[in-house]
Amino acid sequence: MHRLVAVAALAGVAAAVLVVVLRGEERRAPEARAAAPVAFTAAVASPRSFRAEAARRAELRASWERRERTDEHVFPIRGRHDRGRYETNDFGGGRGHQGQDMFADCGTPLVAALGGVVKRAGTEGAGGNYVVIAGKDRRDYVYMHLAEPPPVKDGQRVESGQSIGRVGDSGNADGCHLHFELWTAPGWYAGGEPIDTAKLLAAWDAAS
Ligand SMILES: [Zn+2]
Repeated sequence: MHRLVAVAALAGVAAAVLVVVLRGEERRAPEARAAAPVAFTAAVASPRSFRAEAARRAELRASWERRERTDEHVFPIRGRHDRGRYETNDFGGGRGHQGQDMFADCGTPLVAALGGVVKRAGTEGAGGNYVVIAGKDRRDYVYMHLAEPPPVKDGQRVESGQSIGRVGDSGNADGCHLHFELWTAPGWYAGGEPIDTAKLLAAWDAAS
């Protein structure tokens, strides 16, 4: 009997709390509606505006898809290749590796993944023959271990897909491969940072 009374009392308290909470919601509701974005209130206002919102979103999605289709990026190795054989070839690679190593036969043509202006073309110890291109997307594209000194010069404008040399093993390279880096703006050793390009490279590879 005592238990029943206790349960009834608890239920009463719970109901009272619920009423208070619901009243609070009622009080808050008008403000919340007033603060909601115009598009949202319009979308819930009528089926017609909801359809307009759906159409607007479909158009937005279509424009994004068009942009993706017109992506200028080209896969930089123009011939048989892989996109890395071991974990150590990947970005990070358990060794602070700043790029992606992709293997191809020595001499396979290389092209600029995206057009821009040559920031640095030269030869250096570990990188061997290398090219850094300031891409038109404000990111820096870096290509290392080229077979010969690059055929482009500092300051030269290059188009997406333009030849920048051939796959080699110059510098500190174990077998012919392209070491590719992509740096966020403001770029290569200029305040930017290298990013993982595995997904981008897979997409460019599939598209070109
Ligand atoms: Zn590498």
